[in-house]
Amino acid sequence: MTDFEQEQAERDEFWMRYAMNLAARGEASGEVPVGAVVVKDNRVVGEGWNQPINSHDPTAHAEVIAIRMAAQALNNYRLPGCTLYVTLEPCTMCVGALVHSRIDRLVYGTTEPKAGAVQSQSRLLDSPWFNHRMEYQGAVLASDCQYQLSHFFQQRRQQLKAQREQSRAGLTDKDQETPEE
Ligand code: ZN
Repeated sequence: MTDFEQEQAERDEFWMRYAMNLAARGEASGEVPVGAVVVKDNRVVGEGWNQPINSHDPTAHAEVIAIRMAAQALNNYRLPGCTLYVTLEPCTMCVGALVHSRIDRLVYGTTEPKAGAVQSQSRLLDSPWFNHRMEYQGAVLASDCQYQLSHFFQQRRQQLKAQREQSRAGLTDKDQETPEE
């Protein structure tokens, strides 16, 4: 690894941790934890976390929120010289938004086997018909990003199970009460 590559790898991990902290803010409000940050010249120009449920907006993915904020901050509908870091492999919509933004580089954490549009389900960024080429790289802090997501889903499953058990227990109580009435 050259000095430049080493430096870039360290920078990538730093910003991926930053994106993970944003994802945690989504998680705190009950959203699937995905975070994204747009960086230019090593400073934040946009950031966001997944929030479709709370904002009643199916397009409110972390990447879209971060891209919108960056474009406003830079007063430009294009984002040249910028890198977007996101904890999860982007979906079709977000890859589209990234191409429209003409961002230079995409870095993501873990893969999205069900809907990922960079390497998992489709490889949109390798499509020859896109009029913009962007550099992309996955697997930056992949296991940390994966853990953040799987931990969230595991907790949610436990909550749902507890709720189901509670409501079943409620039914049983009623069943037992009925004969006494
Ligand atoms: Zn998306």
